[in-house]
Amino acid sequence: MSVFLHIDMNNFYASVECAERPSLRSLPVAVAGDPKKRHGVVLAKNQIAKKYGVKTGDTVLEAQMKAPGIVFVPPQFDKYDKISRKMFGICNKYAYRVEPFGPDECWLDCTETEKMFGGGESIADELRERVKRELGITASVGVSFTKMFAKLGSDMKKPDGTTVIFEDNFRDKVWPLPAEELCGVGRKTTAKLNKINIHTIGELAHSDERVISKLLGKPGRDLRSIARGESCHDVREAIYGRDVKSVGHGLTALRDLTTDDDVETLVYYLSELVSARLRKYGFKASGVSVSARSFLLSRQGKQAVLPYPVSSSWDIAETAINLLRSFHDGTPLRSIDVSVFALSDERAPHQLSFFDDSLKSVKSESLDKAIEKIRLKYGRSAIIRGAQANQDIFTDKDVGDFLPFKR
Ligand SMILES: [Mg+2]
Repeated sequence: MSVFLHIDMNNFYASVECAERPSLRSLPVAVAGDPKKRHGVVLAKNQIAKKYGVKTGDTVLEAQMKAPGIVFVPPQFDKYDKISRKMFGICNKYAYRVEPFGPDECWLDCTETEKMFGGGESIADELRERVKRELGITASVGVSFTKMFAKLGSDMKKPDGTTVIFEDNFRDKVWPLPAEELCGVGRKTTAKLNKINIHTIGELAHSDERVISKLLGKPGRDLRSIARGESCHDVREAIYGRDVKSVGHGLTALRDLTTDDDVETLVYYLSELVSARLRKYGFKASGVSVSARSFLLSRQGKQAVLPYPVSSSWDIAETAINLLRSFHDGTPLRSIDVSVFALSDERAPHQLSFFDDSLKSVKSESLDKAIEKIRLKYGRSAIIRGAQANQDIFTDKDVGDFLPFKR
């Protein structure tokens, strides 16, 4: 059973402003584009302004009429960006995979980590507490067995609440909601659904698959599956149109790499980073490529396609090392790049063969996972490969890689 969390910081921009200036907290506050001009638009409002009926998208003038005495604050996007990175950073401590969805919300796949932290609900409560303590902002968190139900859950108790949607109560909690609350159901889709008398998520769940298919195509079928609480990872592709072609890491060494050991140490290190990111995004790769720049600054590279998709650091490193050997003549190297391509969903079925290396792959993958678990708990330096222990080739640092996709 999967465990997904969705965290959503409440009234994000306005909360950041109020956290910074306590004097604002007892007043209605709106972050608005160009508050001096009357046509400036409200981008966010605090809880008090919300009670007066102020809405995102209202003009400054409208907001003033609804909430006399409202304080307008100009947006400071750099600051919001900083806070949002901090939030993703906190989330990264609880899940291998964190998927941002806008600056103030993201999903966490806690399927493999929930036991370490006492279950999805405890993670949710802990996350809320930490975000409140460390960032001064309240957040709402949904916990569920599908991503979309987790997202719906994070909308149910605002501000500052956790909502758990289980397999045995989603029909009561989710089905009465209007269909347009589902992520991916926009105005046009809503109109089409309404026309055939589908107004709630429950009605969408009970709809005839062929009718929906005819009306909305594959995206419609996916939405229907989401409404039924079925798998939604296909939908992720359909709705968010992820377009990641490759994942890679490169590094210029602190000194020239003169021996095979030097080269292998760096390749293993880079492969670990690539492997961890692959797993974080939920991908496997069927292609590995490596390139190297010599101390003369000439660059050479090569790539290979593997017989089966991989994500373990061992697979990536061994392939990269073999590729490097095939073109590297022993000239001292200054930098190496390792990347993988031909990505596929890690959950896609894959035939294991006893005659190739795929069993070794599986073992090495579980080793990677175990290592990552330890690092998640105690930090990156808690466990390192023997060869990396006393090297002077690179400085190992926590790679702040929590924004997997450009949005
Ligand atoms: Mg929000």
